[in-house]
Amino acid sequence: MKVLENLSRRGFKPFFAESAEEVIQIIRQNVPAGSTIGFGGSQTCEALQVPQRLKALGYVCNHQLTSDLSWEALCQSNRFVDYYITSTNALTEDGQLVNTDGRSNRVSAMCYGPKKLFVVAGRNKICKDLPAAFERIEKVAAPLNAKRLNKKTPCAVTGKCEKCFSKDTICKATLILHNPTSTMEVFVIIVNRDLGF
Ligand code: SF4
Repeated sequence: MKVLENLSRRGFKPFFAESAEEVIQIIRQNVPAGSTIGFGGSQTCEALQVPQRLKALGYVCNHQLTSDLSWEALCQSNRFVDYYITSTNALTEDGQLVNTDGRSNRVSAMCYGPKKLFVVAGRNKICKDLPAAFERIEKVAAPLNAKRLNKKTPCAVTGKCEKCFSKDTICKATLILHNPTSTMEVFVIIVNRDLGF
C-alpha cells in the first residue's frame, strides 16, 4: 500500500489492521501495562471501542466513556500524558496527516507532549493530496463534527462550510504533520474499514 510506504519514509510507524482487536494489539505492544492514556475526540476510536477495550486490559483511559473526570479535567490531564490516541481528519497518499480543530487540545497533543502518539484511521480518511485533504475537512469532517457537537455554526445547520468567523467555529487551527515532531514516536494504524468522519 503506497500510503504505508510513504508514512514510513517520513518517519512514521505505519500499521495496517483488519479489526479492533488488531488495533488494540499494536497499542498493547507499545504502551506499558497500567499506563495512563490520553484521548483526542475521535469517532473512529469510539466505533472501535478503543477506550473501553484498553480500560478492560488495565490501562487508565482519559476518555469520557471510561473516566469520571469532567471534560475540562480530562483535557488538563491529557496535557501531561506520555501516550495519546486519536484519529485524523485526513491522511494524504504521500503520508501527511491533516487536522483542523476549534479547541485544539487534539492538534496540540499531535505535535508536542506525548512520547507516543497513536493515530487510528479508517481507509476513508486517505486523500490523494493536501488540496483533497483540505476539501475533505471542509466538506465532510468539519460540518459533521460541528453538527455532532451542537456548535452554533452555519455548517451545523446546512451541512456546508460557509467559511464562517463564528465564535463557535471548529476550524480555528489546522495542523499538517509532515513528519513526526522531534520528541515523539507516531504510530499510524490504518484500519481496513470506513470509520469516523
Ligand atoms: S469554517 Fe465554519 S462553516 Fe466552515 S466548516 Fe468550519 S465551522 Fe463550519
